[in-house]
Amino acid sequence: MGTTKFLLSEKEIPTAWYNVLADLPYPLEPYLHPVTREPVGPKDLSPLFPMELIKQEVSNERWIEIPDEVLEIYKLYRPGPLFRARRLEKVLDTPAKIYYKYEGGNATGSHKPNTAIAQAYYNKQEGIKRLTTETGAGQWGSALAMASSFFDIECVVYMVKVSYDQKPYRRSLMEVYGATVHASPTTSTQAGRGILKIDPDSPGSLGIAISEAVEDAAMRDDTHYSLGSVLNHVLLHQTIVGLETKKQMEMAGDYPDIMIGCCGGGSNFGGFSLPFIQDKFTGKDIRLVAVEPRACPTLTEGEYRYDLCDAAGMTPFAKMYTLGHDFVPAGIHAGGLRYHGDSPIISLLYDKGIIEAVAYHQTSVFDAAVQFARAEGIIPAPESAHAIRSAIDEALKAKEAGKGEVILFGLSGNGYFDMTAYDSYLKEKLTDYDFALACSDDK
Ligand SMILES: *Cc1c(COP(=O)(O)O)cnc(C)c1O
Repeated sequence: MGTTKFLLSEKEIPTAWYNVLADLPYPLEPYLHPVTREPVGPKDLSPLFPMELIKQEVSNERWIEIPDEVLEIYKLYRPGPLFRARRLEKVLDTPAKIYYKYEGGNATGSHKPNTAIAQAYYNKQEGIKRLTTETGAGQWGSALAMASSFFDIECVVYMVKVSYDQKPYRRSLMEVYGATVHASPTTSTQAGRGILKIDPDSPGSLGIAISEAVEDAAMRDDTHYSLGSVLNHVLLHQTIVGLETKKQMEMAGDYPDIMIGCCGGGSNFGGFSLPFIQDKFTGKDIRLVAVEPRACPTLTEGEYRYDLCDAAGMTPFAKMYTLGHDFVPAGIHAGGLRYHGDSPIISLLYDKGIIEAVAYHQTSVFDAAVQFARAEGIIPAPESAHAIRSAIDEALKAKEAGKGEVILFGLSGNGYFDMTAYDSYLKEKLTDYDFALACSDDK
């Protein structure tokens, strides 16, 4: 009988984040100002972000030390476990070895606190009293709400309306941590009012909620804005996940042939896989697969070009895979995977063929989620279940080929606040939306 959980001690928590910008073989194109289209400088960003995060955004240092105060809080839930999915392997009757890194074991149930805590810390250092942000499904909002309460900062969350209605307990969770939550679009910002004038029943989108949160922050000196994914510094903070995983795979005595992560804005996939990409640059044969919903297929069907990060043009242009900043995705349950764009780092790696991407419909994703829950016990977040779908498919391919592949996937969060979604699935009420259909539905 082999080991099922590979556990590190608190002393083994990595003390520096890995900055892939130091090793990227291709230059990353700069953000451009939304009005002048000139490259954005620190001056443009300082009304929204603390200087330390602005520096991290463009740093070329390979290792960036994690502040002691952040490490202390990480210890509430880090290191996270790496599991060998022995029971799932048996169910699938596959010769593949399946491992998963679990990020759902902390208080808010996803990888998002890894950056929320760091961001709240750097804002506190700069004397900021209030943070605004957007949230889709609510995992980011709850992570920032928790982190803000740790640092005694007021937190205001603009929550995409479709999720606000689908996931009422996520709102309660944020309120327990002391945050104020608005269903976006609201009537209290210019951006929100503009959207509601065109479509009074707008279900909202991350792009719209970002516009509202940025506008709110830009109006006040004591307030900054915080983004839960997409930006380089967010991926940087999330590399704690991949760095731990690397140590744990060594403990397990295996190296992944394939790594799989779900991808919305890219911080989960990036944080998990970038520390391994370093090996790929130096010749290691490893496949890295980003998984997204067919209803919001940014990498697999988007265009690689400059686009705005939000709906209203309050934020810079970023060179990324995008479905268009005004894209409003269908109301699928994986709210965290409904962003129109993708991280510039992940987009560049995809464009250069260093990483792969696949897209799945939500019913097949929930098939995988339920199969996983019945084998391994954990109820996965609908987002994370995208990675499970792909991992199961790879394990079945390995079975057909008779190959003992090592498959490693990121289980980015748990689904205990997503029971409405599971309920719909079990009652066979889930709808699959194709990208093109999703567009015409909304017109
Ligand atoms: C937010 C979220 C994601 C998507 O995150 P990105 O980093 O934006 O790709 C995936 N899984 C879970 C559980 C999430 O909460």
